[in-house]
Amino acid sequence: MRVKKETISIITLGCPKNVVDSEQLMTLIENEKIKIINNYQDNTDIVIINTCGFIEDAKKESIEQILNAVEYKKKGKIKKIFVAGCLSERYMLELKKEIPEVDKYFGVTSKEKNLRDIIKSLNLEYKKNLIGERKPSPSNHFAYLKISDGCNNPCSFCSIPLIKGNYHSKPLKKIIYEAKLLADRGVKELILIAQDTTYWGKDIYGKRKLSLVLDSLSKVNGIEWIRLMYTYPAHFPRDVIDVIRNNTNICNYIDIPIQHISDKILKSMRRGITRKNTIKLLEILRNKIPNLYLRTTIIVGYPLETEKEFNELCEFVKEFKFERLGVFCYSHEENTEAYKLKDSIPQKEKLLRQEIIYSIQKDISLANNKKLIGKQVEVLVDRKESDLYIGRTYMDAPEIDQEVYISSVHKLNPGEFYKVLINDAQEYDLFGEI
Ligand code: SF4
Repeated sequence: MRVKKETISIITLGCPKNVVDSEQLMTLIENEKIKIINNYQDNTDIVIINTCGFIEDAKKESIEQILNAVEYKKKGKIKKIFVAGCLSERYMLELKKEIPEVDKYFGVTSKEKNLRDIIKSLNLEYKKNLIGERKPSPSNHFAYLKISDGCNNPCSFCSIPLIKGNYHSKPLKKIIYEAKLLADRGVKELILIAQDTTYWGKDIYGKRKLSLVLDSLSKVNGIEWIRLMYTYPAHFPRDVIDVIRNNTNICNYIDIPIQHISDKILKSMRRGITRKNTIKLLEILRNKIPNLYLRTTIIVGYPLETEKEFNELCEFVKEFKFERLGVFCYSHEENTEAYKLKDSIPQKEKLLRQEIIYSIQKDISLANNKKLIGKQVEVLVDRKESDLYIGRTYMDAPEIDQEVYISSVHKLNPGEFYKVLINDAQEYDLFGEI
């Protein structure tokens, strides 16, 4: 089969780490002059679905996508379906039995062996020298930069170590090489991702050296914003604070999922930190980094979470006032430590608790946003929609945080920075003019 004439579509589900893996795969395929199309409904020869298998909702979405593709195959609109990523890494045997219409299942493509297997299955040449080279897909001016894969933390509710295995830091040279290639392509914002960015270096140097990564990246020409995501509260390397303070192109923004605040729940979750030390760390970060925007993620409905622990969490969210906050409902994942506990809280109650936290956060976010009215803020324009330009401040990670809606008589260019006068605010969006 001469693949060269074929068309390929890649569907990416799940987190930004999957986006990076798909971008790498796309680079290897496009290098062979293969056309990659976004939408496989219009007669595609091969569809590759890069799945997510982290929690129930994500698994459901992945299976829906696979079954959808199978329907198209039955109608003769697709020749072949390849499934890769976390869902097939975790449930390959079950999937092979349940959905035999899929031509081939692969594990996570962050593992080189699986990436090589997919390329071979497409009858293409695997060019190792292209590893690290990729065209950012969400946009041309910001890109995710994955600094490691896998995780050594023992969080009781999490299936990722079962899927991705132990932590392995990407060597610094490779990280810088990738960042330079992205900067050469016009990328201005790098978003640092991993399962745990704060663990970087521990497996190589026996010591956490995220500060070295940040400091080295701050010297890459053309990179104007470096954003730190997925930090882990326990053992947070303090030397990172000074590197953020001393480098203007590292955003005063930190994503630090705390998951909960009750000592009883933190202990059962095996987060390796107490309420007291969590608050101490967050306050140190706030006191030491000016105008810091803290993003966190919390889980509601964990098996042992009674009204008491949930109220404690609500009170903390009210008092601490995170600038950015996401809430997940606990998902009972087999083979995790927490799976030994009874998933005692009904889904309806979990959703109600999620709603309650979001309603607290809505007021906090609105109050924060109103403080920016009348101020000039620097905005990176991402796109134009009808007659408004839409962008983000250093306080906003793409795809998960807020946006700024800009009216301007002048033409603005996506990927450029502009000073915007904020004239209005809503809970989760700002409005301004140039
Ligand atoms: S830090 Fe915890 S929650 Fe995050 S990937 Fe590792 S084990 Fe999972």
